[in-house]
Amino acid sequence: MKIFPIFIPHLGCRFNCVYCDQVAITKCETSTIQSISESVRKFCENNQLEEKEVAFFGGTFTNIQKEKQQAYFDTVNEHKDKIKGIRISTRPDSINQNILDFCKDNNVCTIELGIQSFDESVLKSSKRGYNSQTAIESCNLIKENNFVLGIQLMPGLPGFNSGSLKTTIETTIKLNPDFVRIYPTIVLKNTELENWYKNGEYSPLSLSESIEIVSQMINRFKEKKIQVIKVGLHSDIDEDKIIAGPYHQSFGELIRAEMLKVDILNNFKTKTLEISPADISLFKGFNSKMLKEIKQKKKLKNLPIIINRNFEKDKFIFTDAQPDENW
Ligand code: SF4
Repeated sequence: MKIFPIFIPHLGCRFNCVYCDQVAITKCETSTIQSISESVRKFCENNQLEEKEVAFFGGTFTNIQKEKQQAYFDTVNEHKDKIKGIRISTRPDSINQNILDFCKDNNVCTIELGIQSFDESVLKSSKRGYNSQTAIESCNLIKENNFVLGIQLMPGLPGFNSGSLKTTIETTIKLNPDFVRIYPTIVLKNTELENWYKNGEYSPLSLSESIEIVSQMINRFKEKKIQVIKVGLHSDIDEDKIIAGPYHQSFGELIRAEMLKVDILNNFKTKTLEISPADISLFKGFNSKMLKEIKQKKKLKNLPIIINRNFEKDKFIFTDAQPDENW
């Protein structure tokens, strides 16, 4: 699926959430309606053979003035025959049956909800402005109306702990969304969270805590066949906007390394490890952290390795074959 993102930072948002600065995150100004049709046309031309969606990200789409929503829909729907549909992101308290009917009439196929947590105390401490029940009802209504449902979650918000993590994971599983995005909370400049952090009222997760937590979430969702399509903020965010928190340019790769490491350790045999070329960077990157940890845990001087070009990323086996290399 190819997605053409249109950023509408904070458009439709009733207030600024304590952690949010969409301009810093997206590095974009709101796209003008005039510019959208031409960009979508080019996107369709360049991706003729692929399934495509045009997505509005970075605001509360369903809370934008209705005439403006219609204008956005109309400009994208000039290319209706070339795309699967429109994707929007919004808040759970900006969903009801009328809104969904309007979306349906305008070729919306996917709705992403910024839920962040299903835990009452996290929602309250983070001043999200809705409760868990509202979030659950919105997810159910979206599914009943046959939209593709995406849920965005933010471990590490104020009030976060192991209990809130469990509640959020298990509620997400019960709701069975089509996909999940996970963004560990980062303290951005000029947000209320920055003040809380500086006053000592809030401590973000460390990078290693967030790697462990996000890996745990992915594993649990994987067991239930819920796809996680994105972890961590994108890599080209201005680093001077980041005050604190578990931001890493290669957060997704760190998670992949952690998950592969755990998998290898859980299935370990004193034999040659055969891996995909796509995973060499996980072993050797980040200061060889993953390789060192495997060797340390298994008390090995060297790890015998075969690189198999036919292996997809994340695939590995232990084999009796002679190694090509010793790492
Ligand atoms: S988190 Fe969502 S609802 Fe809150 S300010 Fe940011 S874009 Fe708006």
